[in-house]
Amino acid sequence: MRIIMLGAPGAGKGTQAKMIASEYQIPHISTGDIFRSNIKNGTELGKKAKEYMDQGLLVPDSLTCDLVVDRIAQDDAKNGYVLDGFPRTIPQAEALTEALKARGEAIDYAIDIEVPDENIVTRMSGRRACLGCGATYHIKYNPPKAENVCDACGKELVLRDDDKPETVQKRLDVYHEQTQPLISYYTEAGVLKELDGTQDIDVIFGQIKELLK
Ligand code: ADP
Ligand code: ADP
Ligand code: ZN
Repeated sequence: MRIIMLGAPGAGKGTQAKMIASEYQIPHISTGDIFRSNIKNGTELGKKAKEYMDQGLLVPDSLTCDLVVDRIAQDDAKNGYVLDGFPRTIPQAEALTEALKARGEAIDYAIDIEVPDENIVTRMSGRRACLGCGATYHIKYNPPKAENVCDACGKELVLRDDDKPETVQKRLDVYHEQTQPLISYYTEAGVLKELDGTQDIDVIFGQIKELLK
C-alpha cells in the first residue's frame, strides 16, 4: 500500500500518517522529520534546509527528490509506506511518479485532509512536536499524558520555530501556490480521496480505514 498525505500545514497529515503506519505496519516517511533530524545533527543538508524552513519556504526540489526516492527504495518500504509532506510541488510529484514507474509501481492512495485556513493558525500555535520521534500533540485537541513529554518516546516537546503565526501565514501562502495543484494532479491519476479534516482525529482515522479497505 503506497499512500501519500496531502493537505495544508497543520491539516493533520502527520497525526493520521502515524496512525496509518502503525495500523498497517508500513513506514511513515516524513520529509519534515528528515530535515529536522538533519538540522539537529548539524549535517550539511540540515544547514541548507534550515535557511528555507525558517522562512516558511519550501526546501528546493533538488535537495528533496533524491532523498525520498532513495528512502522508498529501502528494504522496509517494500510493502508500501505512507509519505507525509512529500510531494509538495508538481516537479516533486512528477519525480515520484517517474521513479515508481521505473519499477512498475504507482501511488495507490492520495489522502487529502481539508482544513480551512482560519483553523490552521490556532492549530499551529497549540501544536507541540517531539524532535525525538516526530510525534505531534495539541495542547487542547490532543494533549500528551504528561505535560510537555512525548507519550511515545519520553522526550521533551517543543513549539516549532516555524509554527509562529507570521511563519504559518507564509507557509499557507506557499501551500496554496505550490502544493494545492497536486490535488488536480492526483485526481487525474485517479487516486485522490478527500476527507474533512475539521472532524475529530479518531473519526478521520475511521474514515481512512474505510477507504483503505
Ligand atoms: P507541516 O506539514 O506542518 O507544514 P513539515 O514538517 O511537513 O510541516 O514541513 C516543515 C518544513 O520542511 C516545510 O515548511 C518546508 O520548509 C520543509 N519541507 C518538508 N517537506 C518538504 C518538501 N517535500 N519539499 C520542500 N520542503 C519541504
Ligand atoms: P501536519 O502534519 O498536517 O502539519 P499535524 O498532524 O502535526 O499536521 O497536526 C497539526 C496540529 O493539529 C497538531 O497540534 C495536532 O495535534 C492537531 N490536530 C491534528 N488533527 C487534528 C484534528 N482532527 N482536530 C484537531 N486538532 C488536530
Ligand atoms: Zn517522541
